[in-house]
Amino acid sequence: MRKKVRKEVRSPIFLQPILQERIWGGEKLKRFNYEFTSDFIGECWGISAHPHGQSIVRNGKYKGFTLERLWNENRKLFGNYKKRKFPILVKILDANKDLSVQVHPNDEFASLYENGELGKTEFWYVIDCKEGAEIVYGHHAQTKEQFIKMIEQGKWGELLHRIPIRPGDFFYVPSGTIHALCEGTLILEIQQNSDTTYRLYDYDRVDSNGEKRELHLEKAISVSNVPHKDFQLNIQQREENGVKITTFVRGKYFSVYKWSIELKGSLLQDKVFQLASVIEGEGRMYTIEGEFPLRKGDHIILPATLGKFIITGNITLIVSHP
Ligand code: ZN
Repeated sequence: MRKKVRKEVRSPIFLQPILQERIWGGEKLKRFNYEFTSDFIGECWGISAHPHGQSIVRNGKYKGFTLERLWNENRKLFGNYKKRKFPILVKILDANKDLSVQVHPNDEFASLYENGELGKTEFWYVIDCKEGAEIVYGHHAQTKEQFIKMIEQGKWGELLHRIPIRPGDFFYVPSGTIHALCEGTLILEIQQNSDTTYRLYDYDRVDSNGEKRELHLEKAISVSNVPHKDFQLNIQQREENGVKITTFVRGKYFSVYKWSIELKGSLLQDKVFQLASVIEGEGRMYTIEGEFPLRKGDHIILPATLGKFIITGNITLIVSHP
């Protein structure tokens, strides 16, 4: 009998992104080579195994698989990582208008009150923003009593902490942190694989039917950190084999890096698996299996079995792993 030799995957796994319509969306995601179906695209879910939008594999022998199926049936590609759910969700967001002020629960709260969803800690990398753009990050209340009182009295200007931002800035937004993207901001977001948001304030906006969007005040108040806990990231930079590597965060839920390559960089996939999104430029990736063009807007998985690889071109990627 002939023994079947199982060939290991030594290529990047390309994913088809999911574009999500949002009332605050716009057209900036067109810069990433995506096909548009609406003038209000707010989110591109680049790497997602969440039921609200599943990435589909675009190449190789698993072409057509959803990421969730790939995760469930081929865990070896993911270094046999032992978690029931795929841990990370990668998005690009175009905040063409202000997003509501919100907060996310942690794992314990979400699993109790949101049907086993994960909590949501986020990381933001500002790809671009308009002059004078800001974000809401944290608040000024010192006690929960004061926090509730200011919300009841609608003293939002006094309560919310706003920070000016510029392209290239980055923020760690752990669960329990009050936050909002504001108008004119294009970011890449690495987050836990969760879609649970508690809306605290929506600027009293009404939609075309005169309706306000639902708020989730009770849950938002109970999960918010009071006083606000600030998380300053100390970045580290190093150059290795032609790749400028910036380490933004090495956290409990994910680590995030930027890889900048000007001509040619050699890398080794030595993590359980890595997720990479091309945010600028174009190039090519070479592995033992072949050659793969990379362009702005591509989202790929670097499987556990990938081994050594080379990236050429003038290209920037944001990379994460659990
Ligand atoms: Zn959020």
